[in-house]
Amino acid sequence: MRICLLLLFTLLGAEASFAAEVNIYSARKEALIKPLLDKYTEQSGVEVNLITGKADALIKRLELEGVNSPADLLLTTDVGRLHRARQLNLLAAVDSAELTKNIPSIYRDPENYWFALSLRSRVIVYAKETVSAEDLSTYEALADPVWKKKVCVRSSSNIYNQSLVSAMLVHLGEAKVEGWARGLVANLARSPKGGDRDQIKAVAIGQCKLALVNTYYLAGMLSSKIEAEVNAANKVALFWPNQNGRGVHVNISGAGVTRSSMHKEEARKLLEYLSGAEAQLWYAENNHEYPVRSDVPVSEILRSWGDFKADDLALSRLGELNASAVRLMDRAGWK
Ligand code: FE
Repeated sequence: MRICLLLLFTLLGAEASFAAEVNIYSARKEALIKPLLDKYTEQSGVEVNLITGKADALIKRLELEGVNSPADLLLTTDVGRLHRARQLNLLAAVDSAELTKNIPSIYRDPENYWFALSLRSRVIVYAKETVSAEDLSTYEALADPVWKKKVCVRSSSNIYNQSLVSAMLVHLGEAKVEGWARGLVANLARSPKGGDRDQIKAVAIGQCKLALVNTYYLAGMLSSKIEAEVNAANKVALFWPNQNGRGVHVNISGAGVTRSSMHKEEARKLLEYLSGAEAQLWYAENNHEYPVRSDVPVSEILRSWGDFKADDLALSRLGELNASAVRLMDRAGWK
């Protein structure tokens, strides 16, 4: 009897240590991903452990942990960090027909080290009462002296701005973009501060006429339970820049399997699930982001903003040019 019990415990122990699990280091806030992961666990029986933190801190942690890292997936909310993780040799290439079918090539690493899971556009918002859409055209035009002291934007340390400048570098070249950045800085209504929501609030109270923000922040405020947020968001309107040219700048949230992963197979399957129709629909509805797949509908608020032309630049370029973009913004005095 004693031997039988011992054997049983040994077997159970072995079972537990081989139980299917995926460990995620996520720069995405828990509330914006956890419900989806719970659904996945329900369907697959695979346990998903989530550790959330700031992207740079998680990347540092991966570096320090090296081959001993428990992480299987790194999830970030911008392409710049995914690129950085790949450069630091922290990610592994993933070979998956499903991922390459579900995710357009411009929204994944050229060698499949990372994959976009949702899209977000960086748009112009403007004060409805005092600005009209006809006054607006492109990102470039934000540097026009007519907007002197009328523009709000967050700091150049923010990766969304860095990615936008990286995209402009590809399209316009360094000299033009530097001139633009100087013009934009001259047009700022205040020294850069706060997040994208704060820029929207600043437009709402008349501190500035225009701001650069990601789409889901505006959608989040419009659908907020906090009345002041809804009211502020209702004072601004969204403008899709560069529609007669290259299209609006698009960034991503995305993920890559870590090089050190002990559960590469499970991690790949979870990525495939996240690129699937059910998960994409959840993202689109709950986070007010755009799906990476064109066959999945967007939320009602996003629908109300209509269709738009997106820049078709391969997003890997944004990561490659990040350091140049940061230096340029610094030279231009963008704080
Ligand atoms: Fe964000």
